[in-house]
Amino acid sequence: MADPLLSISGLEAGYGEIRVLWGVDLTVGKGEIVCLVGSNGAGKTTLLRAISGLVKADKGSIVIDGGEIAGGGPEVALSSGIAHVPEGRRLFRTMSVKDNLLMGAYLRVGEDKAVAADLDRVMTMFPRLAERRNQDAATLSGGEQQMCAIGRGIMSRPKLLMIDELSLGLAPTAVDMLSDSLKEINATGISILLVEQDVMSALDLASRGYVLDRGRITMSGTSAELAAAPEVREAYMGVA
Ligand code: ATP
Repeated sequence: MADPLLSISGLEAGYGEIRVLWGVDLTVGKGEIVCLVGSNGAGKTTLLRAISGLVKADKGSIVIDGGEIAGGGPEVALSSGIAHVPEGRRLFRTMSVKDNLLMGAYLRVGEDKAVAADLDRVMTMFPRLAERRNQDAATLSGGEQQMCAIGRGIMSRPKLLMIDELSLGLAPTAVDMLSDSLKEINATGISILLVEQDVMSALDLASRGYVLDRGRITMSGTSAELAAAPEVREAYMGVA
């Protein structure tokens, strides 16, 4: 694996009295695409929310690029280079596409020229957003909303882009298009941590992966190893 960008060890987190994550260890190397798979309720979203500071870490460590961020909250995570594309995209529905994208850069005060250049870059990467730049986000198709949410993520110039359920509710052609965009984003040096229900397409995109089961990492390996593992094939791909 490449030098670590994100190193999580012994992470425990949950909601009040309810513990969801039980000692999670996970690493994303610089420049890597890593996927996290697991059944409904396994704790995948909670793990992403803990990394981005939205859920408090009760125990353990979350280090990004050498700096500890556990306990720092969302602003520390964002300013340390973590962008989170949440499940369901969570766009501002009555704001334009352009303004939604600019929300991703809200911490980049005094960087107007660089922000404008990055906005152009996102519009070039996603021509459908460029055509709809002044439309309300609510008028976008599901695939276009996911493009907008990913674009908003990269407007913060992250080191790590985390995406929760890339393909949920989208047509296969939209998923293919978004997968190509993620490869393009990754080629610019941004590491990606992808949570995905569609295990086959996640392993296709990622070079390594982790399986989360009831709040614990139960398997990890290269995508080829996981795709060949009988436990993964039976539980998540519906094949023996
Ligand atoms: P899914 O694929 O269904 O989104 P997931 O693997 O992302 O599942 P989480 O959403 O992290 O799983 O949920 C893990 C557990 O935490 C579940 O038992 C869920 O009920 C619980 N949970 C999630 N959000 C909250 C919350 N805000 N308050 C209390 N419990 C929660």
